[in-house]
Amino acid sequence: MIRAYVALGANLGAAAATVSAAAAALAGIPETRLVVVSSLYQTAPVGLKHQPDFINAVSAVDTTLTAEVLLEALFALEARFGRSRSVPNAPRTLDLDLLLYGETRLDEPRLTLPHPRMHQRAFVLAPLAEIAPECLIPGRGSVRELLEACRDQRLVRLGS
Ligand code: AMP
Repeated sequence: MIRAYVALGANLGAAAATVSAAAAALAGIPETRLVVVSSLYQTAPVGLKHQPDFINAVSAVDTTLTAEVLLEALFALEARFGRSRSVPNAPRTLDLDLLLYGETRLDEPRLTLPHPRMHQRAFVLAPLAEIAPECLIPGRGSVRELLEACRDQRLVRLGS
């Protein structure tokens, strides 16, 4: 079994309900066990500023799927929850990212691990620190220290 972490985000429609439902749906991925889901966080958009706040969370899963097959399953969930891809950083019904897959480091256009921007984003690091406070991001450092460095990013912890 490999421990993997998945980031969830949405800022259109019933964003909190979508993120909660998508987190629960991770349990339906074959060969995969949902371990824990963080609280929901309301966060300021990164990139395109003039769009609604996001709702974000992070889940831990244990899986025997390869990272590539797990990512395919995440794309299928995005599609199921109605995601349409437009420009980068645009509003989205549901965005799922594979943050970490064990300690794997990979640099392919289709799959980069650890996720290439996770270490700079409070909306990923705060929920990750909540569920895995001792987590280390290979090549980047400790989640706690990285989160300290993005204190200026606006974010509010909501209920689970
Ligand atoms: P986005 O539209 O921002 O969700 O980006 C999705 C694109 O990034 C897809 O083409 C993925 O193949 C690629 N990608 C690369 N690494 C990752 C990762 N760790 N998690 C999710 N998508 C990734």
